[in-house]
Amino acid sequence: MKLNQNYSALKDSYLFKTIAQKVNAYKAEHPEAKMIRLGIGDVTRPLVPAVVEAMGGAVAEMGGAGTFRGYDDGGVGYDFLLDAIAGYYKAKGVAVGTDEIIVSDGAKSDVGNIPGIFAAGAKVLIPDPVYPAYVDTNLMDGNEIVYIDGNESNGFLPPPPASAKADLIYICSPNNPTGSVYNREQLSEWVNYALRAGAVILFDAAYEAFITDKSLPRSIFEIDGARRCAIEICSFSKLAGFTGVRCGFTVVPRELVSGDGKSLLALWKRRQTTKFNGVSYITQRGAEAALSEAGLAQCGENIAYYRENARVIGAALTKLGIEFYGGANAPYIWLKCPDGRGSWEYFDYLLNEKNIVSTPGAGFGKNGDGFLRLTAFGTRENTDEAAERLLK
Ligand code: PLP
Repeated sequence: MKLNQNYSALKDSYLFKTIAQKVNAYKAEHPEAKMIRLGIGDVTRPLVPAVVEAMGGAVAEMGGAGTFRGYDDGGVGYDFLLDAIAGYYKAKGVAVGTDEIIVSDGAKSDVGNIPGIFAAGAKVLIPDPVYPAYVDTNLMDGNEIVYIDGNESNGFLPPPPASAKADLIYICSPNNPTGSVYNREQLSEWVNYALRAGAVILFDAAYEAFITDKSLPRSIFEIDGARRCAIEICSFSKLAGFTGVRCGFTVVPRELVSGDGKSLLALWKRRQTTKFNGVSYITQRGAEAALSEAGLAQCGENIAYYRENARVIGAALTKLGIEFYGGANAPYIWLKCPDGRGSWEYFDYLLNEKNIVSTPGAGFGKNGDGFLRLTAFGTRENTDEAAERLLK
């Protein structure tokens, strides 16, 4: 048998494994320690009532002979959800056609599968530091990765490089792990760059719901020209706590065509309907409810809860004189390890001295060393206690 040799280019994903090993070793020696986990970016608030009610109603429908549903024939999402998503965009001032939306089981799948519609060996620009799935999926596809450096000098918002040579560009804003958000001018620079290079931007908007500053774009399609060069990937995971339910969506504008005039929307739909059989009816009803007036208000309360967590952590760091990025329009706090310490060194300090589990920045790329990610997705009680422990 011949295996995909591209997999040998993958580095062992040691980050969360190493964190778990260190935490378990500490716990074995200190069984009484109360660990506070501000590491992994999973949510803690339960599904909101509007979603629970809608999903319950959908389960009942599935149990009735007259209302039972099998495969979603179109495979790209039921009309009711496509309408709700288009309405969500409209409320942000962005016009998106229901035929341009493809519903999926989450942003991670789309982030990983979209490169498959491009020729293998594509030149892909990926920010460093960033969500690690971008790198691994492109290695699996045999693509050429060019890192674009995010660092203190550009506020972890790397601008386009001088050379306009790229096929694909990943942009994550608000960024995981740094919490930084591109403003309109900065995103326009990227859009102009992509148009010049004939490249496609994959805009990961998984955390757009956390943007409160009205001047910051929540969609790449707020930027002129983006409909000719960008695909937007979004998720219900952080917007509505769907990390365990699984639902996301991708928008591919009709105007987005390859050099030889092929529609990327048609190609992506072809790919999805060939390799994916659609998201469950129950889930799609839940997602629709999340975008209803009541659902958005309830999800907004959860987001406000996490935002307050971010404020609590940020306030403690400010008191301690520790510099940080993010937190204001994102659920992540990206702190600079004090006294020039490395990520893992400071991770060990927080684990051993404060019993706080964090994520070392080095796990998100070489530019992440010397930084550490804390998440605002914990419970209030744990977040308050973590802040107290930091201040002690
Ligand atoms: N994109 C980014 C930037 C993320 O941080 C995550 C998850 O943490 C995802 C995508 C995955 O989202 P989903 O749960 O919809 O697969």
